[in-house]
Amino acid sequence: MTRQERYASIYSHDVVYCPPQEEGCAMLEVALGCSWAQCRFCDFAKDRFHVHSMEKIEENLKVLGELRADRDRVFFLGENALCLSTEKLLAIMEMTKRYMPKVTSFAMYARFDDVLRKSDEELAQLRAAGLEDLHIGFESGSDFILTMMNKGVLSHDILAAARKMERADVGYFVTVILGLGGRTYRNIHAVETARVLSQMKPKGIWCLNLKVWENTQLEKMVKRGEFDPMTPWEMLQEEWIMLNNLNVTNCFYMDTTALNKYTIQGVLPQVKPAMLEGIRQLLEREHP
Ligand code: SF4
Repeated sequence: MTRQERYASIYSHDVVYCPPQEEGCAMLEVALGCSWAQCRFCDFAKDRFHVHSMEKIEENLKVLGELRADRDRVFFLGENALCLSTEKLLAIMEMTKRYMPKVTSFAMYARFDDVLRKSDEELAQLRAAGLEDLHIGFESGSDFILTMMNKGVLSHDILAAARKMERADVGYFVTVILGLGGRTYRNIHAVETARVLSQMKPKGIWCLNLKVWENTQLEKMVKRGEFDPMTPWEMLQEEWIMLNNLNVTNCFYMDTTALNKYTIQGVLPQVKPAMLEGIRQLLEREHP
């Protein structure tokens, strides 16, 4: 087997996704799929949820330790790896450090309710073992929209989880889905998302335009006339309202899908006026 084939052999899929902020770190698959797998818009939890055995993780770590020996940070793959028991996560962290002695920090995907299921003591143990950041799908601050999309958490859960991570000094990055309320609820989505995010301390906010994927519950809702999708221009307009109402500090804001072709990014609150003006100009210039 070539080096490339050996590396590919430790992942279940040919293409391995991780958040843009984690590019460059070593990726260790600890689970497949999502333990919730019920969000109506979601297309990326296709794998049946499965947690890998310690034996399989150790086999993969042997290869990773050899081929990515220089890395000091490991990202645990699995749509919400934090749902694993604290005991198992700590054991995987300890084993990772044995095979990759330079590793000092870890990050992974999580859901807000995974955070809530951990006690303060468990989060403190994970932080002490090197858990630095969690990447979480926030999607919307509107309880109505979260319920409509069957997200499984409401804004009070999100805020409780945020307080918990802040107490434990675990950083968090969130994603927001522009257009998630459709045309009917766009103002509610923008204002409520900004209202809830403004009570949090995310290290980063990554905005993405909603895409209605084939064979999702959301696609059925569209076909039944229960959801009226917005155009990319309307989603950018929604983003302007959200950003205008947003008050966060030391937060890297990024929208990689503006009008499906532009990227808007910068540190908040410093670049907020420039971003708002840039979006205003784009809206004017590319008015359909
Ligand atoms: S929590 Fe994330 S991965 Fe799981 S179903 Fe919802 S959007 Fe998909």
